[in-house]
Amino acid sequence: MIFEILTIFPGMFSSPLEESIVGKARDRGMIEVRVHNVRDFAVDRHQMTDDRPFGGGEGMVMKPEPIVSALRAISDKGPAPRTVLLTPQGRLFNQEIAREMSRLRRLVLICGRYEGVDERVAEYFTDDQISIGDYVLMGGELAAMVVVEAVARLLPGVLGNEGSAVADSFSEPVLEHPQYTRPQDFEGMGVPGVLLSGNHESIRRWRRGQALLRTSIRRPDLFARLSLSADDISLLEASRESKK
Ligand code: SAM
Repeated sequence: MIFEILTIFPGMFSSPLEESIVGKARDRGMIEVRVHNVRDFAVDRHQMTDDRPFGGGEGMVMKPEPIVSALRAISDKGPAPRTVLLTPQGRLFNQEIAREMSRLRRLVLICGRYEGVDERVAEYFTDDQISIGDYVLMGGELAAMVVVEAVARLLPGVLGNEGSAVADSFSEPVLEHPQYTRPQDFEGMGVPGVLLSGNHESIRRWRRGQALLRTSIRRPDLFARLSLSADDISLLEASRESKK
C-alpha cells in the first residue's frame, strides 16, 4: 500500500516512520510512504503556503494552490488514490475506518497547519475528512502518523504475529484483557493464578470475562453495542465477583 503525505513539515516524519514495525514494513516493501513538501509547490517568490483569512480574524489559512498543485503532481504516480484531509472537523477515526483504509492501494493524507486549510480543498479535492479525536492539534502531521500506523499494522505480513491484530482491542468492540509478563512477582505484586495454570481453556475464559468487565466499566458506549452470549454473561458475572 502506498501512503502519500502532503505537509509543510516533512522532517517530522523521518524518525517515526523509520523506526519499529513501520520502518521494517517500509524496508520490506510492504508499504511505501512518500512525504511531499507542500512548500515545493508554492510558486510565488517567498514560497508562501498560507495567507490571511478572508473576512478577517485570527491566524493564517493554508492556501489552496500549493496543495492542489501537489495533488495534481502525484495524481498519476500510482493507483487511483483516496484523498483525505486531516481536520478536527472530520469523521472520528476508529478501527473500522482503519480497516476500510487498509483495503486501499493508495491513500493521500493532507496535513493542515495554522487555522486550517482553505475550504475549497476540502470541498472539491478530497474524498474524506478525518479527525483523530475531539481535541485540536497544531497540525495534521501527528494525525497522519496515527493513521499510517493504525492502517499499516492491518496489512498482511506487517505484524510478525498475524494473531495479534485480531486479538487487539476494537477488532470487535471489546477492550483487550489485561496482559502480564515476567517477573511473576514484581515488588510483591503477583499475577492472576489462572495465567500460570497452563490450562488454555481456563485462560481463554478468564481473559474473555476480564475483557467484558473492562469494556463495561471503561467504555459503556461500546459495551451497549455488544450482543452477549449466555456464556459471556456468566464469564462477566464471574469477573465481577472476583473483583469484589
Ligand atoms: N481552526 C481549525 C478548526 O477549528 O477546525 C483547527 C486548525 S488546527 C490548529 C491545524 C491543523 O491541525 C488542521 O488543519 C488539521 O490538519 C490538524 N488537526 C488538528 N487537530 C486535529 C485532529 N483532531 N484530527 C486531525 N487533524 C487535526
